Amino acid sequence: MIKGLCILGSTGSIGQNCLNVVRGREDLFRVVALSAGRNLDVLASQIVEFRPCVAVVADADSISPLRERLQALGFRENLKILAGTEGQVEAVSHPEVNFVVAASHGTTGLVAVYEAICSGKTVGLANKEVMVVAGELVTRIAQEHGVDVLPIDSEHCAIHQCLRSGAHQEVKRLILTGSGGPFLKTPRKRLETVTPELALKHPVWKMGGRITIDSATLMNKGLEIIEAHWLFGFPSQQIDVMIHPESIIHSMIEFCDGSVMAQLGVADMRLPIQYALTYPERMDADGHLPLLDLIAAGSLHFQAPDVRWFPCLELGRAALEQGGVMPCALNAADEVAVEAFLRGELRFSDIPRVIEKVMRETPPSHPNRMEEVLESDRRARLSARESVVSMTHPSTVV
Ligand code: MG
Repeated sequence: MIKGLCILGSTGSIGQNCLNVVRGREDLFRVVALSAGRNLDVLASQIVEFRPCVAVVADADSISPLRERLQALGFRENLKILAGTEGQVEAVSHPEVNFVVAASHGTTGLVAVYEAICSGKTVGLANKEVMVVAGELVTRIAQEHGVDVLPIDSEHCAIHQCLRSGAHQEVKRLILTGSGGPFLKTPRKRLETVTPELALKHPVWKMGGRITIDSATLMNKGLEIIEAHWLFGFPSQQIDVMIHPESIIHSMIEFCDGSVMAQLGVADMRLPIQYALTYPERMDADGHLPLLDLIAAGSLHFQAPDVRWFPCLELGRAALEQGGVMPCALNAADEVAVEAFLRGELRFSDIPRVIEKVMRETPPSHPNRMEEVLESDRRARLSARESVVSMTHPSTVV
């Protein structure tokens, strides 16, 4: 059966890689809907190449500019152009869509992913914030509707593959690996003063702004612990993190008998994307995916994460253990703090301070519906903005 795809976040790095995977595979995939933010030039060229029935832009103001670009490219076909969250929801619910690739930034695709699951569509999840912010709700709804949520995050894709070799009750622990980010070897005292430019230089993966900073603070691993919990149903105590600078082992599982299964591969997001798109089958690499050369790689290294200097990792774990609203607050605070750091308003070492403050000030609650999740997200963002201001302009005590 040909899979009808809706790609949320089609102009981002995951979205573009997803189209690289499906290009030339009309026997397996049809791109039914593309949803993007404000990158209209890239979206227009994707529409001309893949001829979806539906395109979604961030807001209604972008509809005419997109039409103009399409006309300039000589595109004359019937295309429905929609905007915003409502447009995304209509796109994922399109009758020809049966697989939704969730690759939006932050929480912008949250409602659409939720609605996709409610209408029975399989989801390929690259957008980890969905599970961090609303993991409990999304997991429950997916179970009720018998819908698969397949990980595209490389670590979770690795765990998903390793889990195929044993039963749930035989798993002792999941071991998420991480490269350690650009500051793995930076003298700890210098972390106070590192610049956004230095933090944006990721050693292995080429990604968007926030996730690159999250890799530098290790918050990305904190978020991935939460994501792993909701995707695979293991408690925080059974999810460990290990630094592995070469990023060749994408994650591992230790079983009760001491056997460790690992998934290895070249650090290329097309592999986890293709795995999710074709699951439960595997598609040939066919010369379009790079093959791993372990002899060229030479040696692999491992070390424990330095949680004293990178406290974000344990903040992620703490949010999961506190449960309820806390992972949502953590995510919102991190996003606000990272944006402030990128604008030069906050020091690198203040990022965890903002998050910790917001978590401390967030009263425990248990959002049960999507509206409550969105409201908690809004409140945590407000609180985070206040914290950023208080750290940028510390009030002087006379
Ligand atoms: Mg990852």
